[in-house]
Amino acid sequence: MITIPFLKPNVVKKESYLHYLSKIDENKIYTNYGPLNSQFEKRILEEYFKGKGNVTTVNNATMGLILSIAELKRPQAKYAIMPSFTFSATPLAAMWCGLEPYFIDVDKETWLMDEEKLVEALNLLGNEVAIVVPYATFGSYLRLSFYNQLQETGIPVVIDAAPCFGTTYGDIHIGENFQGSIVFSFHATKSFGIGEGGLVYSQDSELIQRIKTASNFGYYGTRESISLGINSKLSEYHAAIGLATLDVYQVKIQKRQKIYEFYLEEINNYRLLEKGWEIQKTVGSIPYQFFAILCPKGKKNRKYVEKLEKSSIMAVSYYNPSCHQQHQFQNYLHSELTVTNELTDRILCLPFWEDMNNSIVKRVIKALIS
Ligand SMILES: *Cc1c(COP(=O)(O)O)cnc(C)c1O
Repeated sequence: MITIPFLKPNVVKKESYLHYLSKIDENKIYTNYGPLNSQFEKRILEEYFKGKGNVTTVNNATMGLILSIAELKRPQAKYAIMPSFTFSATPLAAMWCGLEPYFIDVDKETWLMDEEKLVEALNLLGNEVAIVVPYATFGSYLRLSFYNQLQETGIPVVIDAAPCFGTTYGDIHIGENFQGSIVFSFHATKSFGIGEGGLVYSQDSELIQRIKTASNFGYYGTRESISLGINSKLSEYHAAIGLATLDVYQVKIQKRQKIYEFYLEEINNYRLLEKGWEIQKTVGSIPYQFFAILCPKGKKNRKYVEKLEKSSIMAVSYYNPSCHQQHQFQNYLHSELTVTNELTDRILCLPFWEDMNNSIVKRVIKALIS
């Protein structure tokens, strides 16, 4: 039987960006916020954020998180509050900024950081809170009014929205008008995949300028370093692929939503939700990266992964282990993580790629419940 992989990255083919590459040859500019990068940033702002706010590209989202946290964190404070149910890059970014992650639980329906638990942690840790880093779980739209308010009270917020480029609610892109920083990834496995790359958005133009400066050795106009800089610029080659991806991204999103609907149909056909399976409660329109589902309470996702593997179907469990269970983060403080622990035991991420058809979806679900 043919193996069904978990993901098939679908970065645009070279034919679609050869004309952009020719521009690089003509310009003889290869990086350092060159013309293609400028065009890429300008189009993102116009096509996804109604021309409002500010963006800067980075060479990956992890660097975008590090630079955002470094620029926004409260001095002398210690903790970066974040969910444990996130990718390792979130706590690692805080640690590179000299902070300690403090893990809190997620909501059991949305799988987003629990806002009530966050308020409890803020009260408990007080002035020791350096930053809050929510994660827009699996591309989900995250309402930012709560976090905008936090920003206004002087508690800085950086959103890990790595899989969310293209996530909208009505005609509002996630992050639009946000006063803090919101970070997107263009890694090959993300829906807007260009190889390696990322983007930072904020309503705060000064913040974005500071991040741009820090991302280029702390140079602002002259070759004198004025801040704790590093090199995290996006090359013109990646900007070329990014421009070609913008040309087709809406079609890619539609394909992904179609596959998500195929999954929902099959799940309804087998009445899985009535049998104790659960899916994430989301709002808005999401450029899905995979199909996440919880197996029934008391069952272990590991068993289902093994079962699928016997049918040559590859599934994974994000995030198992979740951050507080990983060696690197085990010794950091956390509040009660009941929901996180349960998600970690029950979550299954099912195969997903753009040219997947309904018969593959049927095969996956059938194998899952057989
Ligand atoms: C992919 C991902 C990242 C890292 O993005 P890179 O561009 O690979 O650095 C960070 N956080 C989350 C939640 C992710 O899914």
